[in-house]
Amino acid sequence: METEIPLAIEDEPPSITTTLQRTPRPSRKSLGSSAWDDWRWQFRNRLRSVDDLLRAFPNLPATAQVREAAEIFPLAITPYYASLIRELSPEDPVFRMAIPSVEELHNPGFLRDDPLEEDHDMPVPGLVHRYSDRALLLVTLACAMYCRHCTRKRVAGSRESTISDRNLSRAVAYLREHPEIHDVVISGGDPLTLSTKALERVISAVRSVPSVDIIRIGTRTPVTLPMRITPELVDMLRQYHPIWINTHFNHPNELTPAAIRACGMLVDAGIPLGNQSVLLRGVNDEPSVMEQLCRGLVRARVRPYYLFQCDLVRGVEHLRTPISRGIEIMEYLRGRLSGLAIPMYVVDAPGGGGKIPVLPTYIVSTSPTHTVLRNFEGMLVSYPEPEGYMPQQCRSGRGADGATVWDLAAGRQGRIVPQRMARHDRRDQREDITFTGLD
Ligand SMILES: *Cc1c(COP(=O)(O)O)cnc(C)c1O
Ligand code: SF4
Repeated sequence: METEIPLAIEDEPPSITTTLQRTPRPSRKSLGSSAWDDWRWQFRNRLRSVDDLLRAFPNLPATAQVREAAEIFPLAITPYYASLIRELSPEDPVFRMAIPSVEELHNPGFLRDDPLEEDHDMPVPGLVHRYSDRALLLVTLACAMYCRHCTRKRVAGSRESTISDRNLSRAVAYLREHPEIHDVVISGGDPLTLSTKALERVISAVRSVPSVDIIRIGTRTPVTLPMRITPELVDMLRQYHPIWINTHFNHPNELTPAAIRACGMLVDAGIPLGNQSVLLRGVNDEPSVMEQLCRGLVRARVRPYYLFQCDLVRGVEHLRTPISRGIEIMEYLRGRLSGLAIPMYVVDAPGGGGKIPVLPTYIVSTSPTHTVLRNFEGMLVSYPEPEGYMPQQCRSGRGADGATVWDLAAGRQGRIVPQRMARHDRRDQREDITFTGLD
């Protein structure tokens, strides 16, 4: 992507204030609080190299290995987020999400740079059109903090560039030509690393398309840079309603007073806030930690939206859990927590398969007259089906993308055959013979 919309941040070399050096972790007490609360100061003073890390954390363990990983994948941590590290060890959840680990270099063959195949679904650079009614617009590759578990590790932070005017116009033209798109997710990178003015340029361009109903913004700044949520930003956003924001809290330690305040400001402006967590080994793969996180989120007026199974991204193998752990956590949450506090667990299928919801099995058996269900306690109940129910003729037609599993369930389609399988290749390669019998 070309860099035409200016980055919010002037290109000053990141300088770690000497005051950060003294403390085992960066402490705001040693700094003027006005500088600490200024998001541009936080952004400019991100820890961007192992030397920066060592100035902030002189006792950082395994420095040589950290250096090795930081050479491959970008590193940036705001002083604010670094101050949430409680223990200088990969056992600490914030440390684990922020500090490079040599384990990122472990590279089993099934990992990909782009497992969701977003690059294949881009009609215009930066616009991902995977689902017919929604599109994802990547507007910058910069983030306040580069998460070690990032799904877009292939691009996030590789160059801190932003969408060019030309590509923004092309994306908007595509949206106009595709009025079936009703929901545009502005993502990146982190869109809130743009200046408010640059962000408004993007939002107003998208808002100018009449068929776009809702604009969503995906941002981790409430977690990693909460001072970014300024009254000025909120006043700008509220002019473009309906605006929805999804953020990305993964651990209760991230729910600080500053983060909670930032969420409150967004919600007060009428912006519904959702949370998309990633299930991460050693961070939140403990049912009680997930419970605390979800309870803390609803207290902060944030609705847990998705819990993502970790994608098959190169560099995150050490943070993955088996899917069974996610199902176990969902089993634990249901019945124990307010339904509002329970996210939907999804696997974003490798190969561009899209999001697949995954749940424990609650339907135990079924017959034409009764469905047997179980609840979280293990109680089995028989649900009698209504007598003589005949479904109305279904008037919904087939979607633009052709037959789906729903068409099979509705009886309007007999089967769906995967298009390209080994046997198709074999068919293509076979000699032209006519089978006439076995002897
Ligand atoms: C996740 C995603 C969306 C939004 O999906 P929802 O399930 O509506 O939140 C849109 N486009 C792409 C490519 C996505 O990966
Ligand atoms: S904020 Fe989002 S895009 Fe940026 S590094 Fe973290 S997960 Fe990736």
